[in-house]
Amino acid sequence: MLNKFAIFSIVLLFFLQLYSCAVKTQKNIKTDSLVAKHGLLRVDGIRIVDKKNQQISLAGNSFFWSNPYWRGVKFFTKDAVKWLHKDWHTQIIRVPLAADPRVKDGYLYEPDVNLKAVERLVDTAIEEGIYVIIDWHSQHAEQNEAQAIEFFEKMARKYGKYPNVMYEIYNEPLKVSWDTVVKPYAEHVISAIRKIDPDNMIIVGTPNWSQDVDVASENPITGYNNIAYTLHFYAASHFEWLHNKMEKAIKNGLPLFVTEWGTVKANGDGQMHLESVKKWMQLLKKYKLSHCNWSVNDKTEGASILKPGASVHGGWSEDDLSPSGKLVREYIRNWQTFVNEK
Ligand code: MG
Repeated sequence: MLNKFAIFSIVLLFFLQLYSCAVKTQKNIKTDSLVAKHGLLRVDGIRIVDKKNQQISLAGNSFFWSNPYWRGVKFFTKDAVKWLHKDWHTQIIRVPLAADPRVKDGYLYEPDVNLKAVERLVDTAIEEGIYVIIDWHSQHAEQNEAQAIEFFEKMARKYGKYPNVMYEIYNEPLKVSWDTVVKPYAEHVISAIRKIDPDNMIIVGTPNWSQDVDVASENPITGYNNIAYTLHFYAASHFEWLHNKMEKAIKNGLPLFVTEWGTVKANGDGQMHLESVKKWMQLLKKYKLSHCNWSVNDKTEGASILKPGASVHGGWSEDDLSPSGKLVREYIRNWQTFVNEK
């Protein structure tokens, strides 16, 4: 027969076990971080504001597609995120889930390997206390609406309680209608997310590679809170005509988020266009837009921030950075000073 001491010991052990399980499942989140300070971001008119209703503009990096065959996923490491945060002062990362139907080792065909890579970066961003965009990286998302809904429901259940996280539900629609293709898709996905997560920001792509923000501004999504719209630009391809579309959308009251931009041509390659980059950065500053640069990769193309063979664990020297990497690092490092100066 058990004496009182034995019963007490067993009960105590049981609670100790419970406590240690609870501690193990908690993330080791930094308490003095950017996200601890600013909290959940919210759309307020054309502005994005923090938990104290102060306008905020973030600068950071987009990673590359998550599928193994294109090899950018090798940089989906905890160390790379930590290095970007520490050395580049990156405030936001964007994590592209390869979800395009033409990517045969993407999420639609190889869900586990793609999902695992994406979650690794999202978890690291949460631990580091920076913001993170979960991006359904597809140019044909309306063809896979059911899969997109299922994916974002999963993400909302897992990450909806973290103020770090934003959902980007359609990277770049092509030449399709906003009114009859993109908007209905977006409303279905938003409705599914909002049933689980009532408040984290959702960012909606716009037609023509996320350039037709002016078109979306004529017929925005209503009935849901905290919705922003995607503008993408590549400095060596996109000039005044895209500035004008952006400013028209802003005049119409559309909140914009530059989830992807490049210093080079829209195909991700070629030389940087320095004058155009400068002009774009002045416009982003003027309207305090947030932005992520494409991309964290060492592929031999102009947009990569790294030269071939750079370590997947960060610690990059000047020599490891591409010309675009050096320029973008300066903008990201100095963004808060730049964006807040008169
Ligand atoms: Mg939430």
